[in-house]
Amino acid sequence: MRSLRLVLGDQLSRTLSALEGARPGHDVILMVESRVEARAWKHHRQKLVLVWSAMRQFAEGLRREGLDVRYVGLDDPDNTGSIEGEIRRVLSEGGFDRVIRTACGKWALEARLSALDLGVPIETREDDRFICSRAAFAGWAANRRELRMEYFYREMRRKTGLLMDGDQPAGGRWNFDADNRRKLPAGVRPPDRLRVTPNAVTRAVIGRVSEGFEDHFGAVEPFGWPTNAEEAEAAFQHFLNDMLPAFGDWQDAMAWGRPFLWHGLISPALNIGLLDPLDICRRAEAAYRQGRAPLNAVEGFIRQIIGWREFVRGVYWLKMPEYGRLNALDARGALPGFYWSGQTDMACVADTVRAAHDHAYAHHIQRLMVTGNLAMLLGVDPDAVDDWYMVVFADAYEWVEMPNTRGMATFADGGVVGSKPYAASGAYIDRMSDYCRGCRYDVKDRLGDNACPFNALYWDFLDRNLTRLRGQGRMIMPLRTLETMAETERQACRRKAARTREAMGVIAASDAAAIT
Ligand code: FAD
Ligand code: SF4
Repeated sequence: MRSLRLVLGDQLSRTLSALEGARPGHDVILMVESRVEARAWKHHRQKLVLVWSAMRQFAEGLRREGLDVRYVGLDDPDNTGSIEGEIRRVLSEGGFDRVIRTACGKWALEARLSALDLGVPIETREDDRFICSRAAFAGWAANRRELRMEYFYREMRRKTGLLMDGDQPAGGRWNFDADNRRKLPAGVRPPDRLRVTPNAVTRAVIGRVSEGFEDHFGAVEPFGWPTNAEEAEAAFQHFLNDMLPAFGDWQDAMAWGRPFLWHGLISPALNIGLLDPLDICRRAEAAYRQGRAPLNAVEGFIRQIIGWREFVRGVYWLKMPEYGRLNALDARGALPGFYWSGQTDMACVADTVRAAHDHAYAHHIQRLMVTGNLAMLLGVDPDAVDDWYMVVFADAYEWVEMPNTRGMATFADGGVVGSKPYAASGAYIDRMSDYCRGCRYDVKDRLGDNACPFNALYWDFLDRNLTRLRGQGRMIMPLRTLETMAETERQACRRKAARTREAMGVIAASDAAAIT
């Protein structure tokens, strides 16, 4: 049987199920730089470089093994622009008796490809690079009133045996999160990070993306992301040896001008298949077992991968396509322009947007508690928030971006992913960062001209959503505080928040004026 095997841009793993059994001189492997996918969002230009450079190098690796790769480049004059078009084009040459593919990460593409009528059978294989299959997640979720990451995570620990001593969690606890919320002390200087020097293929793609994608977000250079398995391995080794020991302690900290801190910087490579999630977790565990990294760091790292990463993927496939339309807080506002330009006096936001622009990266707490929290407090439409997160990060793929944005950051899913909104005033950002020291706004003030915008917005958010949030058990304390506030104070917060939302372009002046 001669097969046409499809490999997508986020499926660059040599162990990919679609490549299993591929025979040199026999099967054809199809890889496409698709204009349709590239233009679906105005992706950060570093993401385009990363994916196309990694695809080209992956294709070369397969060719070196003697496999017949049909690589359709962006500028190939015959490129129809779409993946479906390219499958049909190869099949039209004749001689194929089936198409083999690995299930896609994106719901809409999966729906399109599985509906194709090609005249030959399509064999769709499981994406077994994930630890929990879609079916296993659906089985775990069935009959549960609520889906909570923590319980799912324990299942994954038992299933993989990671950090298990017999049937007990290593160190006697499942979760060491409480040890991982330290602010960076003034004397502690984050280390310089290894950034990969672009190789020849990457340099060529940088040249191509620099011209023709000017309307996309972000700086093309300095580009420092790994683009093949060897580079990704070197970057991970650097993390494992030099960063992991302190990863836990400063996991939630933020520092002006220091976007990377002790974070892994692995998601861009991981999400396109250059690293294997289970393998890196096992190696992190080995570092703990051999005394090279403490348990709070290793448990925190492993939880992000076999817990959060697998959990949000499970939620995405369980709930799509309805999930992409959820707007539980009925947020309708526009996204402020400074999310793109970075032109704002809010130091925390300016620093996060600059990191996104310069590196296609921001770490989790910046994404969640700065840009995500602000968008939720302002009442920005989750569609606009989703678009922003899809565009600005090199690791953005809908299956992981959407549940984080609609679930964790904006509570648009009404509590599917998180048990409460991650809403916070400026006090949280002040506690976890050095941002407020250098900010024009006063983090301690709520209503004055220079008051930190997060403060009134926070109380106004609780006030506007009081009825919706009452049912969320974990919101009892802040809602009680709101309800004990004098009505004049609550009204002042409403007015201040309305003026802020208007000034930021979220709501119209007439809507702001109508708010008492
Ligand atoms: P580290 O802090 O070193 O963590 C290690 C790894 O754990 C990450 O590489 C990632 O694979 C995994 N991880 C950590 N947190 C999460 C999480 N909440 N969900 C899924 N995986 C997680 N991650 C993406 O990969 N793509 C996205 O598009 C994306 N969008 C996000 C949007 C919002 C609003 C928020 C709050 C988070 C988002 N995340 C996303 C999750 C997380 O912020 C990134 O995975 C992380 O910042 C990547 O950097 P790192 O490799 O240095 O991570
Ligand atoms: Fe951000 Fe407010 Fe602190 Fe300024 S004062 S950095 S706006 S939290």
